[in-house]
Amino acid sequence: MVTRHGKICSFCGEPGSKDLQLIGGLGAQVCVTCIDDFHAIVHDEEKRAEAKGTFPWETMSDAEVLATLPQIMASAEQNTAFAHEWVDLLRERNISWAEIGRTLGVSRQAAWERFARKGGDKSESA
Ligand SMILES: [Zn+2]
Repeated sequence: MVTRHGKICSFCGEPGSKDLQLIGGLGAQVCVTCIDDFHAIVHDEEKRAEAKGTFPWETMSDAEVLATLPQIMASAEQNTAFAHEWVDLLRERNISWAEIGRTLGVSRQAAWERFARKGGDKSESA
């Protein structure tokens, strides 16, 4: 089932909760705090000027850059898990492995090998 439960913000790494709503698409999630921060950067001339041409990692210490790596990996894994959830959704809608493979530009077999759940969807031929 496609759900936001257990997801993290793809921008700050905070887990979504009742108090920190996530909004997203294509696997990426963004929390309302990040939306507010990005909104301020886009709509506040002074903040936009501050942010223009700079990247957050330019002012981060080595320890901060290192500490960010697990968050990047968690976000990447979340996106991969979302692709699996999406394929599950397609399968629930009886979309064939052949059509999923065709959409991804791979064979039916390759799509099945990549996305079929172990012990779950074994209907390789459908
Ligand atoms: Zn966030």
